[in-house]
Amino acid sequence: MTATIIDGKKAAERIKARIKAEVAMLKAKPGLAAVLVGENPASKVYVDIKRKTCDEVGVYSELYKLPEETTEKELLHLIDKLNKSERIHAILVQLPLPKHISEENVLKEIAIDKDVDGFSMINVGRLASGEETAVPCTPKGVIRLLEENGIEVAGKNAVVIGRSNIVGKPVAMLLLNRNATVTVCHSKTRQLGEYTKGADILVVAVGKPKLVNGDMIKEGATVIDVGINRIDGKLVGDVDFESAMKKAAYLTPVPGGVGPMTVAMLIENTLERYKEIMGK
Ligand code: NAD
Repeated sequence: MTATIIDGKKAAERIKARIKAEVAMLKAKPGLAAVLVGENPASKVYVDIKRKTCDEVGVYSELYKLPEETTEKELLHLIDKLNKSERIHAILVQLPLPKHISEENVLKEIAIDKDVDGFSMINVGRLASGEETAVPCTPKGVIRLLEENGIEVAGKNAVVIGRSNIVGKPVAMLLLNRNATVTVCHSKTRQLGEYTKGADILVVAVGKPKLVNGDMIKEGATVIDVGINRIDGKLVGDVDFESAMKKAAYLTPVPGGVGPMTVAMLIENTLERYKEIMGK
């Protein structure tokens, strides 16, 4: 078997084109504020891509690049200002934050209707109880890729590797909400392959190149590789692409899979926050 490659770039382009057309019809534009604290090189790249995409689709954006030594109080002050801003409908704080700032304290200060990433406790609770109001962008992108490729979820065995609050756990919740039988594996899971080999849908979100290879994949499975790793300046995922191609029915590449969908979902979520706030 040779897997069909799931093209996240193309799917993201389609979504962005639809949003661009919708935004063009609006008099007052949706506004996204992205806040970056410190010097994390990957985070800098991500916020620049997000800003560029806003420009592409006609969404107003403000980018705040704050120095590493920014205090929690200063950051909270900025969040307060953005909460009150009439031009801003969606607030994104790029994680991770420097160690001296509590992510929990910052995320809970973001106005609930401007929580574009769905990381606030209220939105986490909503998702856990099956209400998908503001869904984190990467997990939402994973589900959208399954939907766009006609991959059924209900009744399937889904295995998620990784249990972070931003990827693994919300992906597991979304799959559960869609009636998959979900297993979550993590760093303390023993015999990982025993779980992955039973997966009809395998989502890998760890950050370890070649963690999953073809021998660990069920023939005909759908494999979504969320991982982003840099090896000698080249981007690779968590799945050994060559061997996985021979076992899976569907496979996402890295780059060009989940990554572009994350950005498209951020813009979609920005538009949703705008509509909610404007009562549209
Ligand atoms: P994280 O470090 O917060 O979590 C990693 C998870 O992997 C943990 O839950 C841990 O228990 C698990 N883990 C670690 N070693 C393991 C092992 N040997 N076996 C099984 N599980 C193991 O990372 P994250 O923020 O969830 O991100 C995961 C990956 O996804 C990273 O590579 C990150 O760069 C990437 N990512 C990609 C996008 C995108 O848009 N494509 C977005 C967010 C994150």
